[in-house]
Amino acid sequence: MSEIRTRFAPSPTGNLHVGGAHTALFAWLFARHEGGKFILRIEDTDEVRSTEQSLAAIYDGLRWLEIDWDEGPDISGPFGPYVQSERLNIYAQYINQLIESGRAYRCFCTPEELEERREIMRARGIPPVYDRTCANLSEEQIELLLAEGKPYCVRFRMLETGTTVVNDLIRGDVSFDNSLLGDFVIRKTSGYPTYHMAVVVDDCLMKISHVIRAEEHLANTPSHVQLMDALGFERPKFAHLPLILGTDKTKLSKRHGAVNLMDYKEQGFLPEAMRNFLAIIGWSPGADEEILDHDQLIARFTLEGVSKSPGVFDLEKATWLNGEYLKRADAEKLTDTLLPLLQKEGLIEAHPSPERREWLVAVVDLMKERTRLLTDFVTWGRYYFTEDYPYDNEARKKWLSKEDTPERLDMLADRMKELETWDVEAIEAGIRGLAEELEIGAGKVIHPCRSAVTGQTIGPSLFHLLELLPRETVVARLRRAAELGRRGELAPV
Ligand code: GLU
Repeated sequence: MSEIRTRFAPSPTGNLHVGGAHTALFAWLFARHEGGKFILRIEDTDEVRSTEQSLAAIYDGLRWLEIDWDEGPDISGPFGPYVQSERLNIYAQYINQLIESGRAYRCFCTPEELEERREIMRARGIPPVYDRTCANLSEEQIELLLAEGKPYCVRFRMLETGTTVVNDLIRGDVSFDNSLLGDFVIRKTSGYPTYHMAVVVDDCLMKISHVIRAEEHLANTPSHVQLMDALGFERPKFAHLPLILGTDKTKLSKRHGAVNLMDYKEQGFLPEAMRNFLAIIGWSPGADEEILDHDQLIARFTLEGVSKSPGVFDLEKATWLNGEYLKRADAEKLTDTLLPLLQKEGLIEAHPSPERREWLVAVVDLMKERTRLLTDFVTWGRYYFTEDYPYDNEARKKWLSKEDTPERLDMLADRMKELETWDVEAIEAGIRGLAEELEIGAGKVIHPCRSAVTGQTIGPSLFHLLELLPRETVVARLRRAAELGRRGELAPV
């Protein structure tokens, strides 16, 4: 079998959407699983909407997910250039070849004329495909129009009868009635090739073996294969991926949350969790397992496992998965990831000393068991870094506003001050000892203490988290909450 080559061919006209990232990931996984090549090609034939900024966003998104490519604009390769605007002469050559062989023709119809005629066709219930007004102009007519300087585009002459069958690896044979497929534009009036022309030429010249792309392109595929046939190219294999829907089963859009991949980075997702999450949208690894790292994804990925029916982008599931990755993460590495985030929030100095870093690793190690997003370290974990942390409503309502809490907190502060050592065992013994003396359940000391020191009612093991704070800090926080409580300032808000 010849070499497996897949590609991701984004148009740089915006951010990298989660849908685009999903397509890139599947094409990449397939190539990696098969030991083939993955190519990045930039489809900037929309000369008006393509931007450098968008190109940069595509690179950022792919790199964040650790999707690497073997050939592409930045690294070149044997079939370059990999940016379509740098390949215009190649398309021009094929367009001319099609005109000369009669499989393409110049169309002088104006957009207004076309729209008018489409309106009439729609009104009559006829499919509004191009009516071939210019399909059979004589040489003389064409010469005349050209001499007049009339603008024109070039259209590909599709087969008028019969069916075009697309063999799709996910969907099987899909038949299209040729009479419903119009003669589509391959060269715009501006002289630029269209997406259809460029994608066909490039997939064939770049020897793409498997065109793996979003379902929305399935409808374009009969046009593409007819063009390939006309140019004498061998058809690649096609695999159209399932659509991605929101949890309400409508097409994924901003209503469901962010559609820009990198917004998920901002929201505190780990790239490996996002990659895993995207991979299991519309693909099932077979066994019940859902948590698969980079190597496991590559080892398991097959197109047979890809579903025909739409996949669902379930943010709750993504968040759960991220939490699982955080739990499993190496605390040292996670600390490296978190440092910029904490620094941005002004919670930690720019250059922490080795001792401070060691402390931070311990904090991260303790917290990671219960966090779901990187940003949770900054919000839930704020009390590790500053005295300026909020008391949440649960903490106020259940404990901090209660009448007997201030006294207990003061007693606990005294007890904490007297401990001989400041470690988990001593702290636990001190807290439990106080509860015993007061003849109350340990929870009645533990919860007020947690509420005072962290401002929250839930979090990691209290004894462990107290150990990671300086004793003076803990004592001061207990006293402060006691004082505020007495003054009635910790009522629920
Ligand atoms: N440039 C096209 C897009 O971004 C690529 C479609 C394809 O993969 O053929 O939708």
